[in-house]
Amino acid sequence: MNRNRIAHIALLPAVLMLAACHKDSARKAESPRPSILFVTLDTTRADAVGPEARGIETPSFNALAARGRRFRWAYATVPQTLPSHTSMLTGLYPAGHGVHENARHVAENQLLISERLHNAGYRTAAFVSSFALARRFGLARGFDIYDDELPGGRPERTARETTDRVIEFLRTPAKQPLFLWVHFYDPHYPYTPPEPFRSRYPKQPYYGEVAAMDEQLGRLAAAFQQQVKGPVAIVLVGDHGEGLGEHGEQQHGDLLYQATMHVPLVMIGPRVHPGVGDAPVSTRRIFHTILDWAGIDTANSLLREEGEVAVGEAMKPFLDYGWQPQVMAVDGTRKAILAGKLEVYDVASDPNEMHDLAAGASLSRQARAALQEYPIPSMDAQQSASNLSDEEHRKLAALGYVSSVAKPVVRPDAPRPADMAPMFPILDEAARLFVQEQYAKAIPLLEQILGRDPNNLDAALRLATSHSALGHEQAAFAAYRRAEVIAPNSADVRTYMALHYARTAEWPKAVPMLERIVAETPDKVPALEALALLRERQGQIEEAMRLRQKVYTLRSPTPAELSRLGEMQMALGQTAPAIDSFEKARALEGASFKHDTELGVLYLASQRFEDARLALDRVRPNDPSYPMALFKRAQVSVLLHEPDASARIAAARTHADATTRELISRERLFRQQ
Ligand SMILES: [Zn+2]
Repeated sequence: MNRNRIAHIALLPAVLMLAACHKDSARKAESPRPSILFVTLDTTRADAVGPEARGIETPSFNALAARGRRFRWAYATVPQTLPSHTSMLTGLYPAGHGVHENARHVAENQLLISERLHNAGYRTAAFVSSFALARRFGLARGFDIYDDELPGGRPERTARETTDRVIEFLRTPAKQPLFLWVHFYDPHYPYTPPEPFRSRYPKQPYYGEVAAMDEQLGRLAAAFQQQVKGPVAIVLVGDHGEGLGEHGEQQHGDLLYQATMHVPLVMIGPRVHPGVGDAPVSTRRIFHTILDWAGIDTANSLLREEGEVAVGEAMKPFLDYGWQPQVMAVDGTRKAILAGKLEVYDVASDPNEMHDLAAGASLSRQARAALQEYPIPSMDAQQSASNLSDEEHRKLAALGYVSSVAKPVVRPDAPRPADMAPMFPILDEAARLFVQEQYAKAIPLLEQILGRDPNNLDAALRLATSHSALGHEQAAFAAYRRAEVIAPNSADVRTYMALHYARTAEWPKAVPMLERIVAETPDKVPALEALALLRERQGQIEEAMRLRQKVYTLRSPTPAELSRLGEMQMALGQTAPAIDSFEKARALEGASFKHDTELGVLYLASQRFEDARLALDRVRPNDPSYPMALFKRAQVSVLLHEPDASARIAAARTHADATTRELISRERLFRQQ
């Protein structure tokens, strides 16, 4: 895989679109196109499902595998949920689609399989089970339905919950062929299998989760085959595996060993040769195979040719901490990992990768080229994860995904991630505690990280921020100075220093610092947010509002932020924009919306009496603004000529507070009553 080839892959969709028209019409005459069920099994190791799995039973998976082709050596492109799925939906390695980590956004110019199939006349639907694949991350394009609703504010839902919704959806018949993507998330940490699987795998709850998911896979496949008319095709695949302690990795995302990169893959459908495939294949080719089934294009399809040098990457430690970038290439049973140094394993005879053959074994020319020419992502080209709201950061943290707060410093002598494996749980825990604002607990862990990796800018900044938030001024300054030494002139360090001042009595010092940062990097969300807060303190409400609105173009606002914006707009007499902000907040919050009084007042001011009536009637007696709501409601009542207007005025008088008593006594509308 050389650079030209990657560029070529990146260009493929546009070329294929042109070719699609001819082939499409030719195919129609031959045979009807199959409906396609694409099931992604999150966090599922290759050895945890299928007929060769030991210590676990997955009858649904096995029954499907027996009818189709099982690829024994399938490889994820990256051991993390969003980038791995992006590869399967675009046909590209992360170097081609640009998503190397969770919590990034798939660029609009990346054509997804759903768009290709939708354009070719397929009905398209997706049901995902984790916030990691929520529509805001960019994979919903081309789907008629993208169901990412997670019950009760949870960051995930079970395979049973997802399958129930899919079965409901499948009851609606349609003439067109269907492309249905279903994502199950159960085996992801924490492992909490339902009964009877909890009791069946008491010592291996991870297996319990996989087995519970397998039961739902059976329900899903049965419903799909029953409800869908015409030929069907099915793909089952793991998005990545789980370390379970191998090479020191408990979960996934930081290393490239088989535990997390080797995944199950089964295909059933037209032109599939049932049996077992022994050549290594990359799961990104699911994209090409689906295009082949749909009669759109045949290039790279697994229905035609299997073997390739399968490539993979794990850039999270590089992008977050500046550690060595990691690239993998598998040729036959020989797997090479390049990360500061070269490792080579024979994965057939040594599946746990215990015996490094790098000293003796020679790599094929193709494998060597794939490793050396794989593009390492540029730090400057990385989108920031900071365009997420705090609430979204906390949701991702609850799933174990926290990304760094700063661009790291790249250096040739950086540690190899594999050597740092004992640090992974500490890094994850420190980041989680930090996001949850448990600073006192985070501090000793951050100190420990800096002891082992003194150039870790992320840890230095989190340490400084933790001390700052706890009011430890001296310790905060010491940590900021440490960060400055690691990364001189870093805009991230200056931003966090300014955020520190903004927290203290010396907050006016932060204003010019933030002004400079915003002028240099107008999209830096934390700096914009901090400056907005300080502008408010300075009484520059309009400027504060302008900054906030800028932030909300970079990330979606939370309901609380929309309400705050509505209050500011209201204070400035901007009635229509204020109504818009409050209505958006209410749409997101539903019954827990607390600003119906404001909304009623605003509707009344714009003579929308009916809307005002409905909003004010929603205000509860325990709301502090209840007296105001009753006063306004009485005004509305008079204006609407309601028969009980007098009673409403009396009620407003009875429940009046100091403010409304005065207003009621002066209200002309009430005098005629
Ligand atoms: Zn995943």
